[in-house]
Amino acid sequence: MTTAAERLEEVKADIRKAEAGYGRKEGAVTLIAVSKTFEAEDIRPVLEAGQRVFGENRVQEAMKKWPGLREDFRNIELHLIGPLQSNKAKEAVATFDVIHTVDRPKIAKALKEEMEKQGRELPCFIQVNTGEEPQKAGIAPAQVDAFVRECREEVGLNVIGLMCIPPFDEAPGEHFALLEKIAARNGLEQLSMGMSSDYETAVGFGATHVRVGSAIFGSRDYT
Ligand SMILES: *Cc1c(COP(=O)(O)O)cnc(C)c1O
Repeated sequence: MTTAAERLEEVKADIRKAEAGYGRKEGAVTLIAVSKTFEAEDIRPVLEAGQRVFGENRVQEAMKKWPGLREDFRNIELHLIGPLQSNKAKEAVATFDVIHTVDRPKIAKALKEEMEKQGRELPCFIQVNTGEEPQKAGIAPAQVDAFVRECREEVGLNVIGLMCIPPFDEAPGEHFALLEKIAARNGLEQLSMGMSSDYETAVGFGATHVRVGSAIFGSRDYT
C-alpha cells in the first residue's frame, strides 16, 4: 500500500515528465489536489508533504474542513471545482481563493457582489460544457465568447481562464483542444483540465491547472 503523500510525489513527477515530453515550460502546470469526500485527517499528510493547492466541489463540505487546516498550514490555495448556487456565493467567496465553475450570469453577478462586500477579488474560470451534455454544467461552446465578454465587461469579474470536464466515455483530447482554442480566441491563458485518468494528456494540450483526486487520495467512498 502506498500512502497519499507517496502518490502525490508520483503525480508531481508524472506532471514534470509530461511538461518535458510535450515541450511545456517546467512548472507551467499547477497541480490541484482534489480532496472532496476526504476528511481533514486524510488531507493533513498531503499538506505535510508540501502540497498547498487543493480543490473541493462542495461549499458546505469545504467550510467544515478547511478553516481548521488553514490554522495549521499557511499559504493554502483552495479552488472551488463544483457547481455553485447563487445563494451560496457568500460562503464560497469567504471559503475559496479561486472559482472554476462560473457558468451563468446569475452566478457571475452574485459572486461579484460578494467579492465587493468582502473585499476579496477571486480569479475565476468559466466552465465550458465541451461535450454539450444536457446533464452537465457549463456554457455551450458557441456561447462562451459572449459570456466571457459579459463577465468581464458588464459584471467586472476577473476571468482568468476556462475549465472543462470531458464526457467520461469519450477520448478527452478533442475536448482539451476545443477548450484551448476557445480560450486562445478570448485572450484567456489559463486552462483547468485533466483529472486522474487523463492529466498527462491534458498537459500535452496546454493545461495550466490539472485537478487530480483519486490518483492521490485513493478511491472515494460516497456512502
Ligand atoms: C472529483 C473531481 C475531479 C477529480 O477527479 P479524479 O478522477 O478523482 O481525479 C476533478 N474535477 C472535478 C470537477 C471533480 O469534481
